[in-house]
Amino acid sequence: MKLEEVFDSYKNNIMPTYTKVPLVFVKGKGSKLWDIHNQAYLDFFPGWGACNLGHCHPKVMQAVRDQISKLIFIPNNYYHIPQAKLAREMVYWSYPAKVFFCNSGAEANEAAFKLSRKYGQGRYEIITFTNSFHGRTLAALAATGQKKYQEGFSPLPEGFKCVKFNDLEAVKQVISDKTVAIMLEFVQGEGGINVAGQDFVLALRKLCDEKKLLLIADEVQTGMARTGKLFAYQNYGVTPDIMTLAKSLGGGLPIGAMIVKKEIADTLGPGTHASTFGGSPVICRAALAVFKAIQEEKLLANTKKMADYLFTKLNMLKDKYPLIQEIRGLGLMIGVELKVEGKSIVEKCIEKGLLINCTHVKVLRIMPALNVTKKEIDKAASILESVLESI
Ligand SMILES: *Cc1c(COP(=O)(O)O)cnc(C)c1O
Repeated sequence: MKLEEVFDSYKNNIMPTYTKVPLVFVKGKGSKLWDIHNQAYLDFFPGWGACNLGHCHPKVMQAVRDQISKLIFIPNNYYHIPQAKLAREMVYWSYPAKVFFCNSGAEANEAAFKLSRKYGQGRYEIITFTNSFHGRTLAALAATGQKKYQEGFSPLPEGFKCVKFNDLEAVKQVISDKTVAIMLEFVQGEGGINVAGQDFVLALRKLCDEKKLLLIADEVQTGMARTGKLFAYQNYGVTPDIMTLAKSLGGGLPIGAMIVKKEIADTLGPGTHASTFGGSPVICRAALAVFKAIQEEKLLANTKKMADYLFTKLNMLKDKYPLIQEIRGLGLMIGVELKVEGKSIVEKCIEKGLLINCTHVKVLRIMPALNVTKKEIDKAASILESVLESI
């Protein structure tokens, strides 16, 4: 297909739900992508957080190739080995729990809402936070603390109370005898890279224990080593009751999961919840390869090292360009808040071969692959600097 043919087909045959960048990609490897003209790009926002290992990681490719030639799909009323192995791995690296498999972040969060309601036996309200993002299905939208995503879709499901992020008093004020859970992202992604405070998180955990509320960690974007720990909650010394994962769990293939503390994991019994494709063999093999790569390639250590390096570089830019308001984040989940809108800066970076994202109007979101190198960071920083200089 030629470039124009691709654009034509999208225009005529695909619903226009995405704001698109006019690039057609054909190949990827690590932090690099190549477009249809064989032009190379440095991808510092691979897969919107779904490619923590970069593009086409060899371990993921190998696992998928092997599994696809043996058994592609087996429904969840039978057993298969990849799911058994993956669930064991996930529980080993998190906390004593059981896993429910699905296909996306929104679906994992829906499972958490349903479990919470069953657990609550009449208590059903879930407290969420301003600038959170929990997905696009109706209940996930109701949980999302950003009005712009909700407009035009009312009535949304009841039972969600949104309060100010990092504000313990605000949480206490809305807790009632109907409250069953508190849900948060430890680092808000779509909402502009806002990091939960240590004291706030400890206080939430205590509050949940006192009032018998479930603490739900939406780790769809923060999970799988992104923040320098395998899961972001591990930075805080607390354990959630429920954790949801998706994005990079599958190394670029679609998977979602809910990990529920053992004591409450049987709340959803046979027939109460399901997902046809959840935890299918090929995807589970891909996710197992992701765990293996993180361990064998020491990606937690690399994430911390490269995060320090990137933060230093970005802070140097901040000192030089007053346009930058603040650099914040955790691990390789970094936000560069500008004093102006970020859209044109992102466009200029793309023109110069660097892919980054802008969220919440003014926040450049930089989340390179966890196996990124110093050399790649140098190149990205110099492109960003040349763009800042030109403004
Ligand atoms: C992306 C995201 C979701 C939604 O995931 P989908 O797979 O797109 O449904 C939910 N929560 C967070 C924190 C996310 O970043």
